Order: sequence, then structure tokens, then C-alpha cells
Amino acid sequence: MTPVRPRLACLVGAAALAAVPALAGTADAQPAAPLVPRTSQVQDVAPVRDATDVPLNEVMVHLRELQSIADAHGGNRATGEPGYRASVDYVRAELDAAGFTTRVESFSTRYGTSYNLIADWPGGDTDHTVMMGGHLDSVSAGPGINDNGSGSAAILASALSFAESSPSPRNHVRFGFWGAEELGLLGSTHYVDTLTQAQVDELAVYFNFDMVASPNPGYFVYHDDPNGTELRDGLTTAYADAGIDSDHIDVDGRSDHAAFMQRGIPTAGTFSGAEGHKTSTQAAKWGGQANEAFDPCYHSACDDIDNLDTAALDLNTDLIAQTLADWSAHDFGGGTTEPPTGDDAITNGGFEYGSTGWQATTGVISTDAGQPAHAGSTKAWFNGYGRAHTDTASQVVTVPGDGQLSFWLKIDTDEDTSSRAYDTFRLQLGSTTLDTWSNLDAGGYRQVTLDLTAYAGETAALTFTGVEDAYLATDFVVDDVSLKGS
Ligand SMILES: [Zn+2]
Repeated sequence: MTPVRPRLACLVGAAALAAVPALAGTADAQPAAPLVPRTSQVQDVAPVRDATDVPLNEVMVHLRELQSIADAHGGNRATGEPGYRASVDYVRAELDAAGFTTRVESFSTRYGTSYNLIADWPGGDTDHTVMMGGHLDSVSAGPGINDNGSGSAAILASALSFAESSPSPRNHVRFGFWGAEELGLLGSTHYVDTLTQAQVDELAVYFNFDMVASPNPGYFVYHDDPNGTELRDGLTTAYADAGIDSDHIDVDGRSDHAAFMQRGIPTAGTFSGAEGHKTSTQAAKWGGQANEAFDPCYHSACDDIDNLDTAALDLNTDLIAQTLADWSAHDFGGGTTEPPTGDDAITNGGFEYGSTGWQATTGVISTDAGQPAHAGSTKAWFNGYGRAHTDTASQVVTVPGDGQLSFWLKIDTDEDTSSRAYDTFRLQLGSTTLDTWSNLDAGGYRQVTLDLTAYAGETAALTFTGVEDAYLATDFVVDDVSLKGS
């Protein structure tokens, strides 16, 4: 069915050879960096999966299954056709096996009954529920692998990775796989319309992913929700961290975030382009073919398993996984829990209250299992990207009389540990450097103590800064920061 208005996600299947985008700012010999390629080479604890680095093959498994479902059911996965229900059953079984609580809700359309699949991860603060979703249905013309098998598979793979590595998120997490988007956003509209106001109030954010692997890919971030600015900027930063200079796109509510947006829930999403044509400016920064459609198989029979740019798919999946990790640990404030202060001049020195008290670059304050916290579940994880990158975390403190600063520091590195300091870590009070470390100091958690008596009474920013050079990763991990008078 041709939608009255063009849908956000839909594609063409030109089986274009995945043109790896020429990443802006990575013109050196570095391979295209995955979105959040933090090293998991932890030497002193058992290896733990990095939930934000989802292997491409884990996404492709789901896409091949969706293709098989279409092949077995008349070539599509459209509303009212058996291929759609089979798609729902497949995704549900995957989520059930991973421990999600799932339910299927049905609703009527002019082409028959359709279904939404809702999946909740048990636990987390339901007053600040983080939700992401995308439509699972195709048009009747084809199997809908880019539109929107790609978003569905990327969300599913991210959810499964999350379940495997972050079992106790701060915020409650929910996923929606929508039916009948291609008939006019019917599934997501049905879901939101049936929510009470109290249930709407619980939804802190909604992220939508509809087409994320277009064969001539673009890298667009939704820019149509005035309440979604913080979400939009987070996605833009995630692209920038991967070396992608993304474009904002006013999607004008043309995908499943619209119903959420209309009830005041902050929304954003990403999009790799549909029937629109890539400009020469975009081709210059993203690679691919100028003056050709992002997806020449949009809404066509050729939107099949060959209609994908796997580099874009891999990158966007990692972006989704990182977004999930960040927002499931996000401090939305307004809660009843505040970090205890007591006699400590540091607020939230254990990072268990997220960013409360701290100003930090994206991804630093983290529950990611790739690095263990010294205590609790959250720590400050600087660097670990294996490319030029600077991370900081800072808070303004007033040094008490006889002030003694202490914290726990763990350093993992792929660099040489005996010759030269390639990646460095610095602690400052105001503009004064208190101490520095580097890859030469690699090792497990050790307690660092510094006598700040000389600064008694001074109020200044206490700042940790990690600086990585262009090659080989070093992780600097800090936890349980304390500043007390003796
Ligand atoms: Zn779509």
C-alpha cells in the first residue's frame, strides 16, 4: 500500500555493495571505528561482554530469519498477511528466551488484525521508563528488510545484548515492535492511545528506529520534536564519536514516534534515508552515490536481504545499543533518592546516582559491564576507544581543612606499558595539576590518596581528564571518590 504520506522507513533493494562511508575526520589509516569500540580486554577480571558493541552477525541472523519468513509467506510481512504474525512470533520468542516479559496486543485494520509486540525488562525505576521501538511490518510489495527489518533487527539485537550484560539498569526499559506502520502509523498510535495519563507520565523518552541500513546510506537524526532536543543531541554526539557528521532531518512526525511526541513524551531517532536522493555534499562526507536514492528499493520487492549497507547497519546497531546503555542509566532527577552528603565534600563520589554532582562527557558515567565498578554498579570510565579521544568528569568542590582526597583507579591498556606514555590521565584542582597517570601505570583497582591541606578553603573544579592518542586503547576507570577533612 502506498501510504498517503511517505513513510520514514522504506527502501529499495539495489544490492549495492556496502560502500563503507568515508568517515569525516578519520582520513588516516584507522579502520572505520565502531560506534563505541571500548576495549574489553580486562586483564584482572573474567571477560565481560560489552553490551554496546553488538557484532554484525547477531543482527544479520535476525534479518535472514525475517527474509525466510517472507519467503515462506508469499514474499512479504505485511499487515493481514501470515508473514507479519510469523515475524511477531519470531521476535517474541527471542525476547522471551532472554528473560523479557512480553505481550502481544491486537488491533483491527482495514486489512485485518494486526499486532504490537511489547517487551519489558524486569526491574528498574518504572517512573522513568526508557522506551525504544520501530515498526515490524513490511509493505505488501516485498519482504521489507531495510524497511524496517533493519530497525527491528537492530533493536532486537541491542535488547538481547543489553539483557546479557546489564541486568540491573537504573531505569526501567521497554521495547515496542509496531504493526501496521505502513498503513498509517496504526500500531504505535493504538499503543499510545490506550495508555492512561499516568502510564504516559512514566515514559521518560521514546527512541524510534525506522530504516537504519539503506544501501546508499545517509546518517540522519530526527529533528521534529521540540521536547526531544536532549535525545537528538545525544544521537548526534554518538554519530560524531564514530566519526560521522550526521544531518538533522525534519521527519515531520512520519514514523512511529509521532504518537508519543503528540502526548508530550520526548522523542528522537535515526534514519538512513528512503526514496530521497543523496546530495553531493552528503556523498562527500558519507560516501556512496550522489544524486541517487538512499534506498532505490524503498517499498519494492527488491527490499530484500541484499538491500543493505552492512557498515551502516553495524554502526547504527552499536549506536542503538549505546543509546540504550546511556539512557537506562540516565539520571532523570526529580526522584526521591538523593546521594547522601554527610561530611564528604564530593557529591555522588560513587557515581551510583548517575551524573548527579558531575559534569562529564558522554558515556563516562557508566554501568557498562565492560569495566567493573569498584563498588556498586556505576563508575566513571574514561577513554578506551583506541583513537584520538578526550573524556572528562568534573565537579566543583570546596576543600575542607586538612582535606584528604581519595579514589580508586583502574587502568587497562593495549599500549606498551614500559616505554612511553601515549595515553594520559590527569587530575586537576582548578588549573593546578595534582597528579598524572598513563598507560605505563596499567593495573587493577588501587586506592589513590592525595593530601589537599594546602588548598583548604579553596573552591574550584576537581577535574579528571583522559586523553587518548590515535592508536591503541587505554581505559582509565575511577570510582568511589571522596574528599574529607581529617
Ligand atoms: Zn518504515
